[in-house]
Amino acid sequence: MIEENVSGYQLPRFEYRRPADFDQTAQRYPVVIVGGGLAGLTLAADLSTRGIAFVLLDEDNTVGVKGASSRGIVYAQKSLEIFDRLGIYDKIAEKGVAWSVGKSLVGEKDIIYEFDAAKDSQSCQPPFLNIQQFYIEWFLVDRINELNVGEIRWMNRVKDVIADETHTLLEVETPDGSYWLEAEWLVDCSGLASGVREKLGLETFPEKGTERWCISDIRFKKEMPLERWTWVESPVNDGRAVWQHPMADGVWRIDFQMKLDSDVEYISRPDVCEERVKKLLGNDEPFELVWVGPWASRTHLLDDFRHHRVLFAGDSAHVFPPLGARGGNSGIQDADNLGWKLALVLRGLASESLLQSYSQERRPAAIHNTDLATRSVRFLSPQSDGQRVLRNAVIALAKNCEFAQTMINTGRLSTAFSYQGSDLSMDEGESIPNFSILLTNGQQQKLVDYAVDGQLIAISTSREALNQLANNALFKVLHIGQTDPDSIVDTDGKIAETLGVKDGSIVILRPDLHVLARFKQMDSAALNEIKRRINYVEQGELQ
Ligand SMILES: Cc1cc2nc3c(=O)[nH]c(=O)nc-3n(C[C@H](O)[C@H](O)[C@H](O)COP(=O)(O)OP(=O)(O)OC[C@H]3O[C@@H](n4cnc5c(N)ncnc54)[C@H](O)[C@@H]3O)c2cc1C
Repeated sequence: MIEENVSGYQLPRFEYRRPADFDQTAQRYPVVIVGGGLAGLTLAADLSTRGIAFVLLDEDNTVGVKGASSRGIVYAQKSLEIFDRLGIYDKIAEKGVAWSVGKSLVGEKDIIYEFDAAKDSQSCQPPFLNIQQFYIEWFLVDRINELNVGEIRWMNRVKDVIADETHTLLEVETPDGSYWLEAEWLVDCSGLASGVREKLGLETFPEKGTERWCISDIRFKKEMPLERWTWVESPVNDGRAVWQHPMADGVWRIDFQMKLDSDVEYISRPDVCEERVKKLLGNDEPFELVWVGPWASRTHLLDDFRHHRVLFAGDSAHVFPPLGARGGNSGIQDADNLGWKLALVLRGLASESLLQSYSQERRPAAIHNTDLATRSVRFLSPQSDGQRVLRNAVIALAKNCEFAQTMINTGRLSTAFSYQGSDLSMDEGESIPNFSILLTNGQQQKLVDYAVDGQLIAISTSREALNQLANNALFKVLHIGQTDPDSIVDTDGKIAETLGVKDGSIVILRPDLHVLARFKQMDSAALNEIKRRINYVEQGELQ
């Protein structure tokens, strides 16, 4: 059934069904996911593609946040690659707005810094794509239902959690009353105010920023380049910052930085907001206000993303200031990191120690994101005279000095975090882009096509090196060369260069397309080291 929400969007309303668990003693499920936001739904879709059954519990019966036009709008290349693997990217691309050019301005039109993230990109996905968060959630729900491996239970609110070393017990409240179920693995994706985290007494060390922002999502006819513009100092906003982003359905997000002591209710009044927008677009430009919402930045971070058999992903584990669009992207990438590991453990192919690497890899990613997002906040909202002097110096130098430009563009969101230093990584642990592949038999593929069934991917220019792994079920092998009908054509050597393979060396990719290892040659010692790293449990039939 479809309902119309207050922002004028047509959103789905999903049906509540009485769970069978009411009529039996507490059932144990291999994976229970709490929360159907970006993180929970991405994980559910990932597990579905791997054939791993799950139950996802969500207290709501729709996508997005009730009454809000959207929170997240910007999705980074890595997230888009994950969605390609999960089979929803084409829908996202059709609906959303791909972009790669970002400009930072002072005054009305003075560009102090500009980038085009598409320049060095080798991915089939654009560096960025803007789309309202609820559309992505909706596409994920449709895909999960289509794959029909797990079950989403709408209007099922987790109200109590008891965790120990062997399993987790949950009390779930529904319109029919409460029931209990057990989870072998519980993944908490229930967001910023996670009740699961609270019930388990886990501390996140929250902090709230003092700066104030007000989002205005608007529709207008004026032709604008499909680029991200940031006015560091905007004359139409009393010298404070303004962000402008296109998104789906012809809607633009304009984010106005407000005075520190702003009255939040006043600044978000539609008539007050309209005056700000008029100053930006010009009095004669008609526009429609889709949604207005104030926000202030927050941060929090769990010490460990695992507690007994409970794993935390998305905002439940970490929250960053929205500047830089890292929150949702990070939750999506948490799910990407966790899905293949959970699948190997649940299939008995890896010991549960593999899951230790989840927090070990994603917590540093969260710290990195917090750091960059906080630097953006500090740059746009200097809180002391010293910070303001530095900001002014950076603005003055930005046009000509590279170091000043890096202070404006604190980090490329389109570049995925590398898992260097993780117990799993024998190399830099970087993410390999989803490049397009032409096979010698003329077939066109993409790298993600080889990452759908959870095997490690071994790639080399040496057929001999790959032969060592050819009959091993743990690996999918890909040869770069001209000799066989299923070799990858790489006439200019770009693919080998991107993968870092040369002179017959071999690269081993994980199912999330991060580099696990590179070897000069493949032998039994190298193979054993790979197995040791992923905590592989030898099973006769796989060899
Ligand atoms: C103004 C703003 C702009 C942003 N812009 C971006 C952006 O451009 N790009 C980006 O990547 N991120 C952005 N973010 C951040 C992004 O919106 C969040 O990081 C993201 O929504 C987190 O996803 P999640 O799945 O972890 O949690 P949520 O989206 O909060 O989902 C949690 C889910 O859990 C359910 N739930 C909660 N409690 C229970 C319970 N007890 N039982 C059952 N279900 C429960 C809820 O119904 C909900 O569906 C922005 C945030 C804000 C505020």
